[in-house]
Amino acid sequence: MRLVALLLLVGTAHAVTLRYWVQPCTKPDAGCHTGDPDLAQWALEAWQAATAGKLSFERSATAAKAHIRLYWANGNQGLYGEARPIEVDGVRGAEVYILPPAETPGDPLLRETVVYLTCLHETGHALGLRHTAAFADIMYNFQFGGDIPEYFGRYRRLLSARDDIRKHAGMSVDDRKRITELFP
Ligand SMILES: [Zn+2]
Repeated sequence: MRLVALLLLVGTAHAVTLRYWVQPCTKPDAGCHTGDPDLAQWALEAWQAATAGKLSFERSATAAKAHIRLYWANGNQGLYGEARPIEVDGVRGAEVYILPPAETPGDPLLRETVVYLTCLHETGHALGLRHTAAFADIMYNFQFGGDIPEYFGRYRRLLSARDDIRKHAGMSVDDRKRITELFP
């Protein structure tokens, strides 16, 4: 009986599962790299880990079925990226556009840093997070100014190899607090 009660309790924790789809990089000459979709997926996994299972993601075979759809943009759609709200089967989702940054000769991990942190920020919006004025936050709004190269540089310095991105979520204590408030 105790076990049943426990399971019922877990069942009322309102875990949310969202479907996601990431556009493959089929035209690397447009600015994306073939490995960029990994970075988008790692960003979603970082949000999932921050909620300790209250939010989980499931890969969708098609964009049409996905709550979160991530596209590699090109041209001048924005400086880094953008998230546009959509509704999928009555659930809030978003189309996320990531503008791949310029190459960073001699330091490819800097480019990976910018792509990863941009994916993290824009998918944060997709999940309902708003901008903040704190430089420590991934949801910081660059409109508040500050040392933007250092914003990326402080994360870049944590990395010795690309895989290290999976060990460093790139979010602040307050970012974590806010995402757990959204998915309690
Ligand atoms: Zn933003």
